[in-house]
Amino acid sequence: MPHLKIGIIPVTLFEQNCSLVWNEETMKGVVIDPGGDLPRIRDAITKAGVTVEKILLTHGHIDHAGGAAELAAELGVPVEGPHQADAFLLERLPESGKSYGMAGARPVTPNRWLDEGDTVSMGGESFDVLHCPGHSPGSVVFVSPELKLAIVGDVLFRGSVGRSDIAGGDHATLIASIKTKLLPLGDDFAFLCGHGPGGNIGEERRTNPFLR
Ligand SMILES: [Zn+2]
Ligand SMILES: [Zn+2]
Repeated sequence: MPHLKIGIIPVTLFEQNCSLVWNEETMKGVVIDPGGDLPRIRDAITKAGVTVEKILLTHGHIDHAGGAAELAAELGVPVEGPHQADAFLLERLPESGKSYGMAGARPVTPNRWLDEGDTVSMGGESFDVLHCPGHSPGSVVFVSPELKLAIVGDVLFRGSVGRSDIAGGDHATLIASIKTKLLPLGDDFAFLCGHGPGGNIGEERRTNPFLR
């Protein structure tokens, strides 16, 4: 069994679930979606005693990516993801931040764009990348078949799905992404999402009103 630990750090006024994922044996790990509130994220990293190797982004929205450039520069680590279709969102992060009263967001240029079929490493554990557009054009999901865990960003929520009224969003595309890529993972897959509590695929397949 891999020795992965996950800490959730709610950040920004949107209470976005920034995640610190690390290997308990090597104490190396990643930060997923550092949207803002960097002091809180730094604190969590220090308390856990983790050496951060990279930053991963599920998509380009301000609450997920707003602090990525600053944290990457500070830690001297690369940014991986999302899919290149979110480049326009990452470029306009400063303007987007201003419109929500979040100062200091910098544009992000990822060191690596991700696409369907890629893999990313978190604390030495391999995750498959799924491209799941609809909430944003470049949303990606990280899947560990071994852990039966999916980190889904804002694609799927417990009892809900991501909004599709933001630039580049499309509801039908989002539902298709969930039905063709997330539900087939299997009912026993757990998921962590960008806002609120996580859940499992089986319960969403059975009860999520957006997936009927
Ligand atoms: Zn979003
Ligand atoms: Zn979000």
